[in-house]
Amino acid sequence: MADLLVFGSIAYDCIETPTASEDYILGGSASYAALAASYFAPVKISGIVGADFKPSDLERFRARQINISGLEYSGKPTFFWRGRYHDNFNSRDTLELRLNAFEGYVPQLPPSCADAEYVLLGNISPDHQKKVLESVKNPKFVVLDTMNFWIETALDSLVEMVGRADLFIVNDSEAKMLSQERNIILAGRKLRKMCPGAVIVKTGEYGAMLFHKDGFFVVPAYPVSDLHDPTGAGDSFAGALAGYLAGIEKTDFASIKKAMVYGAATASITVESFSCYKLEMTGRQEIERRAKYIKEISQF
Ligand code: AMP
Repeated sequence: MADLLVFGSIAYDCIETPTASEDYILGGSASYAALAASYFAPVKISGIVGADFKPSDLERFRARQINISGLEYSGKPTFFWRGRYHDNFNSRDTLELRLNAFEGYVPQLPPSCADAEYVLLGNISPDHQKKVLESVKNPKFVVLDTMNFWIETALDSLVEMVGRADLFIVNDSEAKMLSQERNIILAGRKLRKMCPGAVIVKTGEYGAMLFHKDGFFVVPAYPVSDLHDPTGAGDSFAGALAGYLAGIEKTDFASIKKAMVYGAATASITVESFSCYKLEMTGRQEIERRAKYIKEISQF
């Protein structure tokens, strides 16, 4: 098994869904992704947390054997995000975003993280992603995630990072925004020209599409009926996928297809609770069960 380095936001979130709300709960792309990946490979998490970061939240990473030597600590508050979901749970508004500890942060990777071969650059500023990638000695496979905020505010840096990734993951509306295409297939194909390796376009509750030089693939989502909070689904998908590839140390078309099934299975667990509660409690066995079910429902 190879180590996976996960970099991204580590946040406190305030979230309103149509049926419930929770305040100051652990979130952030790196938190979800690292916890998801921890079921598949040894994980090292990197990013910065603030003075308000609770020791009990650090313990949640340790409890899943995640190496936290790459975490940095700031005197400022932890990254903060407030989001509200629309009635369909599919779309959401960012009501407040405070970079806090990430403002002016220059990531310094310790040697323990710099030798990771598999790297997941989770959703955060592309300038931070670039700095981290440049500190990794010999990256073998780099997965890149982003969101609309960075497409709108840091387009040039983001395009540069897309060109340096082996696998770029975006959701459907971001794919259309970045490619300036209305059709999702055309958007995926255009993004593949920007990312030399492969592109995955996530389509929320419908699954995800892979645009790869060796072919096209679609994975359905696991059918969730107990939806509580969609936050972190994309990060969990990316984390489980990157963790699976690091775990088997393979990155070919067939392996990425299998990794997408594990990504979809793991993401379906995340959305059944707020924060990472259900993700961190559910074992590999339940992920395997859901992955098997996804396989069954996609064969005919
Ligand atoms: P997802 O639902 O997978 O898109 O991820 C949601 C998580 O991303 C939340 O826990 C937020 O704290 C975090 N987040 C929101 N906006 C940003 C941003 N601009 N950069 C990095 N992380 C963000």
